[in-house]
Amino acid sequence: MKEIKTDSDFPGQVVSAIRKVVGTKPAVLHEPSFEGKEWAYLKECLDSTYVSSVGKFVDKFETSLAEYVGVKYAIPVVNGTAALHIALKLAGVKPGDEVLIPALTFVATANAVAYCGAIPHFVDSEEITLGIDVKKLRDYLISITDMRSGISINNKTGRVIRAIVPMHTFGHPSDLDGLLSISKDFNLVLVEDAAESLGSSYKGRHTGSFGLISATSFNGNKTITTGGGGAILTNDEILAKQAKHLTTTAKRPHLWEYDHDEIGYNYRMPNINAALGCAQLEQLPQKLSQKRELYFQYFKAFDSLPGIKLFQEPANCESNYWLHTVVLEETHAQYLKTILEQTNRFGISTRPSWKLLSELTIYQNSPRMSLIGATSLSNRIINIPSSSRLSRGTK
Ligand SMILES: *Cc1c(COP(=O)(O)O)cnc(C)c1O
Repeated sequence: MKEIKTDSDFPGQVVSAIRKVVGTKPAVLHEPSFEGKEWAYLKECLDSTYVSSVGKFVDKFETSLAEYVGVKYAIPVVNGTAALHIALKLAGVKPGDEVLIPALTFVATANAVAYCGAIPHFVDSEEITLGIDVKKLRDYLISITDMRSGISINNKTGRVIRAIVPMHTFGHPSDLDGLLSISKDFNLVLVEDAAESLGSSYKGRHTGSFGLISATSFNGNKTITTGGGGAILTNDEILAKQAKHLTTTAKRPHLWEYDHDEIGYNYRMPNINAALGCAQLEQLPQKLSQKRELYFQYFKAFDSLPGIKLFQEPANCESNYWLHTVVLEETHAQYLKTILEQTNRFGISTRPSWKLLSELTIYQNSPRMSLIGATSLSNRIINIPSSSRLSRGTK
């Protein structure tokens, strides 16, 4: 039976539910774990002196990552933001273009758009996937776009709307069928921000393989890490070659000559980071099952608590459960701050979702649709401790 004593006790009950799973010791939000061949690969890297931008681990990481995600090419880079920057550039995003992105995402999604000289155009999010609300977006685009020579023009700003960048929030795949159809109908290039969703799939296909070109991240807080790192993912051979070229200062291959045929970037992932990546990738299946096990433990702990729901992977999807998430019901949204205060005071790291990017001063002039869904979600989402090792009941 669902019952609680008094509503004022609600934050305390949330603390107890989390403690049933994580125990009484402090629990951080997400910590990396190195339980495979990390030391061996790093030693090999140092012994060989190949620690920088060439080396066998970069090549190996490229191949293993592409194979894992099910794309033809993966280009490892220094971080996920850099991956997204280059992905957008190669998708044809030009200065003065608009790019549709969710308002409910990490700031990197918008920054990468801005690095291209383009303007983020904020769109709403839905409750079932925490990603772009495709239905609302379609109606909105019908009302604000004119098609001119097959290109979507924002009839309010007169700018080209070039691309759409879904982000798979906390690892949960967005509505990719819906997004693909929007991308087709409005001629928008689909670029996935798959920074949080390595290991997540939609109808059996890995996230990051749907976009013309996509980006993922291996930052320290992600499901697997290379210290800092990211990768560009694509099935397109030409784009893959350009990605490699552009991320290695656009230097034309030559034994001794320095010849650069465009303004490139020094974004290549060093071998030493790729060594970590190779070892981490080998452990990804195990980490995913630990994170799923943790989901079931949280599910049991939260099942009998009204007013709050543990977020579950959307239908037809397999999520990596990167950050476990509870969502307050509207009736309990007023407890958000108290829950954050109480959990953190007891050493349980919890976080609200990001402040909507549309509310940041740096993006205050960016166009946006009505953000009712995203606003409501951002007042009700709480991320709870999610490290894969927690599932073993390290209490
Ligand atoms: C982590 C993340 C990135 C990229 O982050 P880096 O720290 O640059 O690797 C991009 N978008 C989202 C949504 C992220 O969570």
